[in-house]
Amino acid sequence: MSSPLLSIDLDAIVENWRVLDARSGAGTQSAAVVKADAYGLGADRVAPALHRAGARTFFVALTEEGARLRPLLGPEVEICVLSGHMEGDAPLIEAHALTPMLNSLDQVTRHFETLPGAPFGIQLDTGMNRLGMEMPEWEAVAGVVLNAGPRLLMSHLACADEPGHPANAAQLAEFHRMTDGTGVARSLSATGGILLGRDYHFDITRPGIGLYGCAPFTDARPVVRLSLPVIQSRGVAAGESVGYGYTWTAPHDSVVATVAAGYADGVHRRLAGKGRLWAGDTPCPILGRVSMDLITVDISHLEHEPATLDLLGPAQGADAVADQIGTIGYEVLTALGPRYRRQYI
Ligand code: PLP
Repeated sequence: MSSPLLSIDLDAIVENWRVLDARSGAGTQSAAVVKADAYGLGADRVAPALHRAGARTFFVALTEEGARLRPLLGPEVEICVLSGHMEGDAPLIEAHALTPMLNSLDQVTRHFETLPGAPFGIQLDTGMNRLGMEMPEWEAVAGVVLNAGPRLLMSHLACADEPGHPANAAQLAEFHRMTDGTGVARSLSATGGILLGRDYHFDITRPGIGLYGCAPFTDARPVVRLSLPVIQSRGVAAGESVGYGYTWTAPHDSVVATVAAGYADGVHRRLAGKGRLWAGDTPCPILGRVSMDLITVDISHLEHEPATLDLLGPAQGADAVADQIGTIGYEVLTALGPRYRRQYI
């Protein structure tokens, strides 16, 4: 088959999870963050693979994501919902035995009123100012909440990918202040926090991006290969232009390949003139504008027209593509979209 192929290495994801798990040492269990369809790589395949490898706690962003995972993972695992318990969520939370991370007094009230006795965790804001209860709100409800038996007290670090950032120590101290002595399982760190060291690990870590092979886990095993078929190639004479807006004009006689993927497939328009596809270890610059389903690439320096060119693979990971357009590997992966033929290896 000649359609664009996204290969996802489940063994590499599992190995990355194991290596991060080993970093945390005894007394800490690694969960797996599989929100946003496992960062675009397919939660229905990624989560069961991690479950088989021993993961027992999964984090998703939305109740619907958790509901889709429950039948795949069975009744034993804990599926934690980071957005908590929002209006109208109760039927899905109950039907799929999800564990919402309640992040405000409103959510605590909603959960206790609609699903009394149902599992829950608490999300605390230790300084990121994004989600969770701050100290005054927490102090006001802690007695009642702790009495109801939360499964987890969690918070999230804002600057964990910058090891020297003073916010890390400040958030750690605030997390201790808010949770010490509660006797409840605690979770502070995602991938970046795991790499900060033992003090940040607590009972459960929440790696996401590190599983999928990206920074800040620079030792990660690569996970993704995206091979795009060349549909056509042509000679373009010096002075002729290529693509929408004629933004690229051949400086000399050139050979241009047209490749089957575009911005609808997560090949960002900003890659035009900056990005590269790869023929093995030879880079081929993206030229002209990126179209919805097509990109044009300079292959003048290749001896033969290649059958495929890689956007992601051994020569260039998601972080490298992200650097070319001023974003992060997370966005490159989650933007890949549904049109690729997927192969899990
Ligand atoms: N925990 C929370 C609350 C998150 O929002 C995220 C991701 O954004 C994660 C864990 C996983 O983070 P990372 O992908 O950096 O490991």
